[in-house]
Amino acid sequence: MRFGPTKFPEPVLVTRPLLPNLDSVQRKLAEVWDSRWITNHGRQHTLLEERLTQFLKVGQLSLFNNGTVALLAACKALGLSGEVITTPFTFAATPHVLNWCRITPVFCDIDPISMNLNPHKLESQITPTTTAIMPVHVFGVPCDVAAIQAVADRHGLKVVYDAAHACGIEVNGEGIGTFGDVSMFSFHATKLFHTVEGGALVCKDAISKTEFDLIRNFGIKNEEEVLMPGINGKMNEIQAAIGLLVLDDLAEEHAKRGALIAAYREALEGIPGITCPPVLPNVKSNNQYFVIRIDAERFGCSRDYVCEEFKKYNVFTRKYFYPLCSQFSCYADLPSASQENLPVATRVAEEVLSLPLYGGLSVNDVQKIVAILRSFAGQKNLPNAVAGC
Ligand SMILES: *Cc1c(COP(=O)(O)O)cnc(C)c1O
Repeated sequence: MRFGPTKFPEPVLVTRPLLPNLDSVQRKLAEVWDSRWITNHGRQHTLLEERLTQFLKVGQLSLFNNGTVALLAACKALGLSGEVITTPFTFAATPHVLNWCRITPVFCDIDPISMNLNPHKLESQITPTTTAIMPVHVFGVPCDVAAIQAVADRHGLKVVYDAAHACGIEVNGEGIGTFGDVSMFSFHATKLFHTVEGGALVCKDAISKTEFDLIRNFGIKNEEEVLMPGINGKMNEIQAAIGLLVLDDLAEEHAKRGALIAAYREALEGIPGITCPPVLPNVKSNNQYFVIRIDAERFGCSRDYVCEEFKKYNVFTRKYFYPLCSQFSCYADLPSASQENLPVATRVAEEVLSLPLYGGLSVNDVQKIVAILRSFAGQKNLPNAVAGC
């Protein structure tokens, strides 16, 4: 069945946080109150570390107060310095963390399909001061982890994954956090699994976990020994308690979003110039995002036009990730930030559009959103050169 375009009565945002039932929150908070222990690694914190270690199928896990501080701690723990190669097609936190560690981010171009760092372009970016690679599993699509590791091994580099989008992803049954030296997860409210604000580092061995735990608690070993200049990276008991409740609701939300993604794929099929995310047979997806690509010439109008027009129908999509991090004024002067170095990322950033996806939407809502999108096709609102055609 096809619908004509109709305006939504209420704004539809790109996502909505998964909110556990308020009664269960009150019961859980009563537990925390009874314990009189509201931060510094209490019972909720211990429980959440255990449950997430299992859920993510990883060896070791350290919770943090957010993903950005977790990533900072990883760079410090691994002693990274000089230059680190990363992708420009990511959230601002990725290069900013490097900058805060006085590391120069070196932007490497991405793969046109996965939109992740292109391992074949990595080697040309390596210099004598390169210490690591920081790839991002963008929108939960796994990086080519084997190819990245091969380059890292050949050059003696560390691999630190920004897995902020990849909570719950498995590749051939293996947790996505098992690759590289360390991975960071973000548990921000806009991510599928969240603790309001929060994050984690995961790694294989207990020695690294001990190091991460020290750094997140000011480097304090015991009452009289401080071993390093650490930071306050601790997740509190209220965050951890919320996380435990969200974890209980995750399977249901995952299934709902899976049905919506199927509805999007079906409704979008055959629209010229619209590309859906790749389907990856060996990957268990987390259904966190649904990001399409709009080829302006084939669709007949640009991504920017679509994003603006959608607002008239109360649909608020997002241009993730536009602009590229390499275009931020703080990085634009780096040699690696030039458009000639990043042709694929430059094009992809012009095409991507993140569509609304959260369990509270219905299949009917998705069909309405696609009907609105279809109505824009061929409106020829193209960037200057092609506008007249
Ligand atoms: C959300 C996000 C982060 C930052 O995580 P916070 O928990 O918000 O600090 C880092 N990288 C990427 C790619 C993200 O999407």
